Amino acid sequence: MMISFVDLTKKYKDTIALSNFRAELTEGVYGLLGPNGAGKSTLMNIISGNIKATSGSCLWNGKDITVLGKEFFNLLGYMPQQQNLYHNFTAKQFLWYMAAMKGLKRKQAAEKIDFLLELLHLKEYSHKKLGEFSGGMKQRILIAQSLLNDPQILILDEPTVGLDPMERASIRNFISEISQNKIIIFATHVVSDIENIAKEIIFLKKGKLILKDSPINIIKSM
Ligand code: ADP
Ligand code: ADP
Repeated sequence: MMISFVDLTKKYKDTIALSNFRAELTEGVYGLLGPNGAGKSTLMNIISGNIKATSGSCLWNGKDITVLGKEFFNLLGYMPQQQNLYHNFTAKQFLWYMAAMKGLKRKQAAEKIDFLLELLHLKEYSHKKLGEFSGGMKQRILIAQSLLNDPQILILDEPTVGLDPMERASIRNFISEISQNKIIIFATHVVSDIENIAKEIIFLKKGKLILKDSPINIIKSM
């Protein structure tokens, strides 16, 4: 499996949000780092089909994702930041709703939902409203929904924001454990989130690729 970015560029009026971005991603965890405004969200939004690039392309196994369309987007899991949570839904209702959005069949959804609630230690909170969830529980339910369709490509937008060090560590371990046969893009501001689990760190600044290398090589070169 491979995602290739070929001179990917996104312009808004006066701003170049992403500039001739070139990279190839294969199985494993990629830490996406960079200050605010670096272009991280723009990149994640292009991969997930929310926005279109101004020029250049994003390829999945050599084929343009905008041509593949559903065939590609069905392979994708996306964990957004917390603001879009449905506070009045219980954990289970939320996962059923997301499963329906993703077009899962009832039987498949029922099995997957039970499996994910168990996997993320949320089973005992199945009938609790998301509005009453702690920060860590909210992050876990958002991860759970991103895994409903067994994605081959998983995009995590700051999955550890607002968590304490213990919760960060367990999210990190969890991501590392599920990374086989997946390309995982893990956006964060916290280097310690990804230094031990990322195969490579991708560092963007002002829309430009500054660095793409393994954490070991980056440390050696400092
Ligand atoms: P990051 O996620 O790294 O903080 P973004 O991808 O959100 O960076 O933003 C990259 C640049 O593009 C920033 O300068 C931002 O202000 C600009 N930008 C992002 N979205 C829009 C938009 N819808 N309209 C205009 N400018 C935008
Ligand atoms: P690790 O891979 O580090 O062993 P765990 O499987 O223990 O991680 O935990 C995964 C997630 O579930 C973590 O966010 C952890 O904090 C949380 N968790 C573990 N046990 C419980 C529990 N009994 N109740 C609620 N959350 C839990």
